[in-house]
Amino acid sequence: MEGDGADCDEDNGTVRRGFMSAAPQPDPRISCAGCGALLGADALSCPECRALVYAEKLEQLALQARAATDRHDLPGAYAIWKQVLALLPPETRQYRSVDARLAELSGSCRSRRPRRSGRWPAGQRG
Ligand SMILES: [Zn+2]
Repeated sequence: MEGDGADCDEDNGTVRRGFMSAAPQPDPRISCAGCGALLGADALSCPECRALVYAEKLEQLALQARAATDRHDLPGAYAIWKQVLALLPPETRQYRSVDARLAELSGSCRSRRPRRSGRWPAGQRG
């Protein structure tokens, strides 16, 4: 009797070919805008000068988050700050302040105050 073993047949070494992209791909390695040091693909800050790799994007996201807060779109702001947090190295001040902001926002989202429609029709006086 043969056991029904799962036979994983992975074909190794399949090179993706035939994918012709018109635009030349940029260098996958990122170099620091500040000092030019080569950074890893998942680096969030430069190990040399501690510059934030995604500083520009972070600024844009922060603007969007503030705009969302201004129009009282707290869930929207929360989602954007989450993105900001993902791009910040945890040891930075920015990370902590954004983290605190997220805590605030999640707090204000949770504490839903029951709305009371104030005016009840008063009994008719007759
Ligand atoms: Zn640098």
